[in-house]
Amino acid sequence: MIIYKTPEEIELMREAALVVSKTLGEVAKAIRPGVTPLELDAIAEKTIRDQGAIPGFLGLYDFPNTLCTSVNEQVVHGIPTNKPLEEGDIISVDCGAILHGFYGDHAYTFEVGEVAPEIKKLLEVTKECLEIGIEETKVGNRISDIGFAIQQHAEKYGYGVVRELVGHGIGRTMHEDPQVPNYGRRGRGKKIKDGLTIAIEPMINMGTERVNQLSDNWTIVTADGKPSAHFEHDVAVVNGKAIKLSTFDYIYEALGQK
Ligand code: MG
Ligand code: MG
Repeated sequence: MIIYKTPEEIELMREAALVVSKTLGEVAKAIRPGVTPLELDAIAEKTIRDQGAIPGFLGLYDFPNTLCTSVNEQVVHGIPTNKPLEEGDIISVDCGAILHGFYGDHAYTFEVGEVAPEIKKLLEVTKECLEIGIEETKVGNRISDIGFAIQQHAEKYGYGVVRELVGHGIGRTMHEDPQVPNYGRRGRGKKIKDGLTIAIEPMINMGTERVNQLSDNWTIVTADGKPSAHFEHDVAVVNGKAIKLSTFDYIYEALGQK
């Protein structure tokens, strides 16, 4: 059952999402060759708590950390380690926080030092997929129109769209209805209505769409070992179209991109 939110609830959700946005901005400042995912995790936990919020992933389904950190061929759900990042790596940092009883959940894939052009392209296209998915999130469309548009865009470049993991409704729990796949056919699923709040999160692989799970029972990796990218925003449908509750602006500021 989809839980539609009031305008007041959406404003509270924006505050929760912005806790995560600011946290990813702090993480962005620390990303460089030599830093470890566990160091990034500590920065994130402190930044969330300093804002009066609670880490949203820590302990959720028994996840052990504040961040999911997924490096190179890892798609999502990587557990932070003490293995230093290396020049040319990419790392998806996915972060959740709870404020006012609502979850924020969003993610960005960072470049570590200088990254190969074909990997830069993967990141660029995955971010475009996220924006295209958000544009499709409007009254008049159905949920599957989001995934249809994302898949069309990713496959133009020969990339694989992960099937096993999907976006989701978000609110007082991290994962609510509906599921929001990054693939599919037009015109399926629920009609999009005002008050819908969802996390849109394309997971796009440079090679095959197929993935495996590591024996830690968390980390998802590409079946062919090629890199994967992941970007995620929380959005709400207001006056017929999606508005972003989260923002990458803190990240862009930290990276000197704005
Ligand atoms: Mg997430
Ligand atoms: Mg999510």
